[in-house]
Amino acid sequence: MDKKSELRRDLVSGDWIVISESRSKRKHQFAKKEKRIIVPRSSCPFEDPQRSGNKLPILIYPEIGKWRVQVLENKYPAFKDVKGCAYIFKKGPYSVAEAVGHHDLVLTRDHNKRFDQLPLAEAELVFRAFKDRYEMHLNDPCVSYVSIFHNWGPKAGASIYHPHYQMIAIPVVPPDVEHSLDGSVRFFEKNKKCVHCVMIKEEIKEKNRIVFQNKNAVAFAPFVSKEPFELRIFPKKHIPYFEETSEAVLKDVIKALYFSLKKIAKNMKDPDLNFFIHTAPIKNKKKYHHYHWHIEVIPKTNIDAGFELSTGIEINTVDPDEAAKILKKN
Ligand SMILES: [Zn+2]
Ligand SMILES: [Zn+2]
Repeated sequence: MDKKSELRRDLVSGDWIVISESRSKRKHQFAKKEKRIIVPRSSCPFEDPQRSGNKLPILIYPEIGKWRVQVLENKYPAFKDVKGCAYIFKKGPYSVAEAVGHHDLVLTRDHNKRFDQLPLAEAELVFRAFKDRYEMHLNDPCVSYVSIFHNWGPKAGASIYHPHYQMIAIPVVPPDVEHSLDGSVRFFEKNKKCVHCVMIKEEIKEKNRIVFQNKNAVAFAPFVSKEPFELRIFPKKHIPYFEETSEAVLKDVIKALYFSLKKIAKNMKDPDLNFFIHTAPIKNKKKYHHYHWHIEVIPKTNIDAGFELSTGIEINTVDPDEAAKILKKN
């Protein structure tokens, strides 16, 4: 059979990507080969975060007794919590603003439990912490966007082994989110429909690329995947704002993430990966009713080379249909 080599254009961003199977090595070579380096508990700063010089937690679960999840200020923040908002000033021809904001860590108690290895109730607790902390930023006039993400493994940018999640509240809307927002406005104005709802409908109808679904959520390998084994998880119902998701829907989204990550860990041998939330921003609320919040999961299999860096066109060597087939294996 001929190997696929095809350009595909993303519905939201308008960006082109290439699915090029002929450049692919054998499929099983995508599984992680090196052993994960496990840093011992004795040198882990998150076993007893306050003793390791961190401030008292901002939020802690449960409030009494042994903690399972806590939110605390990052000791080495990329964005600093100072009095007043960031103001933009000029430095020659350049615009500059102070990196004012909040950089928090969300820690789970177990040294060795990845997100998908936690008891499901504790995975839900991680999201409760995200939501509670997110709500604290809602009325902050200095915050435009809150980025929520997870780095698992050194190749995904985790500098500490102990599983942790990050929330960075920043004074600007980040470019990737802005592109996604702009793309969905364009599509909405032209078609009077949410572009993500159209994609979800198509994927559910097509079935092949679905990795997991339940009543309120769906996880699939997008038709236009930039990266091999990339997954996207959506609430099926149109919800622009992460923080406005009902308990029942959020539970189903968490489950879809949890079981998708289990499949990735099993079928790709626990690769390093990132996952993150894309949601309509805090600033200018109600302007973004056409947006549809979701989670993206990106296993680290690829290093961008000259072509990607010089063109912005990603070459994906695994057809998303094939990726979903591999991940769905039990
Ligand atoms: Zn630890
Ligand atoms: Zn939608």
